Amino acid sequence: MSTSPPRQTHARSPRVALITGITGQDGGYLAEQLLGEGMVVHGLVRPGDSAAVAELLERSPDVVLHEGDLADGQRVGDLVGEIAPDEIYNLGGISSVAFSWEHPVLTAQLSGVAAATVLEAAWQLQESSGRPVSVVQASSAEMFGDADESPQTELTPVRPVSPYGAAKAFAHHMTRIYRGRGLASSSCILFNHESPRRPDTFVTRKITAAAARIGVEGSGVIRLGNLDASRDWGWAPDYVDALVRSARTSTPGDFVIASGTTHTVAEFAEAALRRAGVGDDWRQHVEVAEEFFRPVDATTMVGDAGKARRELGWEPTVPFQEVVGRMVDHDLGLQKAGADE
Ligand code: GDP
Repeated sequence: MSTSPPRQTHARSPRVALITGITGQDGGYLAEQLLGEGMVVHGLVRPGDSAAVAELLERSPDVVLHEGDLADGQRVGDLVGEIAPDEIYNLGGISSVAFSWEHPVLTAQLSGVAAATVLEAAWQLQESSGRPVSVVQASSAEMFGDADESPQTELTPVRPVSPYGAAKAFAHHMTRIYRGRGLASSSCILFNHESPRRPDTFVTRKITAAAARIGVEGSGVIRLGNLDASRDWGWAPDYVDALVRSARTSTPGDFVIASGTTHTVAEFAEAALRRAGVGDDWRQHVEVAEEFFRPVDATTMVGDAGKARRELGWEPTVPFQEVVGRMVDHDLGLQKAGADE
């Protein structure tokens, strides 16, 4: 087994980052944070993703974008060699559990196998350059499946119940395996994290967008699946900050990133509708629809981020009610702007 090269004594300036999945919610926030620190930020984007790219460039015009498919191992490997990043954030892949049930093989390729490609490329770069490369894998609480212990920690058995969870589990294990080879690769086990930039394929944004509409129009219903599912919902920029901290820690490892509180989908809907001004009548605006139930769904998720607090100095800063409030306020703003046009 090779040993890792000594830590750099003279850091390159400016430092260089590569983000896969840069057009997603977390990729966008991460690019903003790293550019704000003065880093050079490269991103891998899927060919044809022009709307998302335009939005990203509007917020962060200084990012350097490269077209490439995450499933194209050769392209990803060549790009890592060419850019020679100090930090790599692997956020790319399928991000929706619901979508993974429709496309399990694609999910395995993009959320599972692609992580091995990224790790191998980072390892090769570190070996050939003699400079340390750190890799952060965006792991997911979904890989715990229907966990029989609560809250979940870094030691909770990995036992996924969805194609997305299984793909993420493979990537998670590979991250640990490369860490064993001397790569500073960390796995952030991210619990659900939301923001106004969430697409409405996620239940949170689906609810806040609908609640804002109902608040403004005074009528309408939100059609949802499992109202009893319970999730640990945090604020996405906080979770991105945890990724950065784990890229720079002297103790790479697995880190649960979570708020430590859990709420049902029904509670989320109630909070959102109340914020939108619907008040005690909120129940009349929620309808259960069979089509939104999943073949298998984890019932309760809640994480213990104690290790991240101790080793990374990380803490969530935005509580549940405030996450809901910020999302609803944003969507109310969009509704009002639409009405004024
Ligand atoms: P996930 O935890 O990464 O799958 O995030 P989602 O926001 O997609 O789903 C969170 C929870 O909400 C899951 O337990 C879903 O089964 C549940 N849920 C209930 N109704 C809906 C719905 O209409 N859409 C989505 N996406 N999820 C729903």
